[in-house]
Amino acid sequence: MSEEQGIVVRLRSDGMADIMTEKKGGGEGCGASHSCHSFGTGNRMITRTRNRIGARAGDQVSLNLRSGLFVKSAAVVYLLPIIGFIIGAAVGTSLNQAIGIGARTGAVLFGLGGLGVGFLITIMISKWTGVKGILTPEIAKIISRGSGDGVSVAVDPVCNMLVDPATASASLEYRGTTYYFCNPGCKQAFSRNPGQYLG
Ligand SMILES: [Zn+2]
Repeated sequence: MSEEQGIVVRLRSDGMADIMTEKKGGGEGCGASHSCHSFGTGNRMITRTRNRIGARAGDQVSLNLRSGLFVKSAAVVYLLPIIGFIIGAAVGTSLNQAIGIGARTGAVLFGLGGLGVGFLITIMISKWTGVKGILTPEIAKIISRGSGDGVSVAVDPVCNMLVDPATASASLEYRGTTYYFCNPGCKQAFSRNPGQYLG
């Protein structure tokens, strides 16, 4: 699960890119079947990724699901329980006389307490960074560039269906980009309010 390959289908304004990946091990392989060339078979999925290396639509890329940013923050986060234990042990040692227990007992009790607090903070930070998208996959490298303007597959921005631009039943140019739709209804919805679909 550490590396996966896909094709860039759409660049987003926030520096992210939508990648189409094939689900592996589901059903028949590419060789014998013609189903690889029909779109929307359910074997494909769209993954939103960080695009820090400037991949373009149509490029074949590999994804790294464990970004360097995550590894760095994890190292700090996992130190917190240990720091909590050390602080707790020190507090327990100095407070033992005030609460009438032995120095060693105090150190152990407060040390475990500090450990627990450290774990709680770790969990909170993990949740928070999860929300901030630290675990978002990242484009690791560009395997091959798409051909020129080369979008070989497009995503209907309204319903997120995969559409083959060559056979799309509707398309619309908006601010220099051509969007493709699975049917005229989606095109209509898009042209009424493009901003709603291009977040
Ligand atoms: Zn559609």
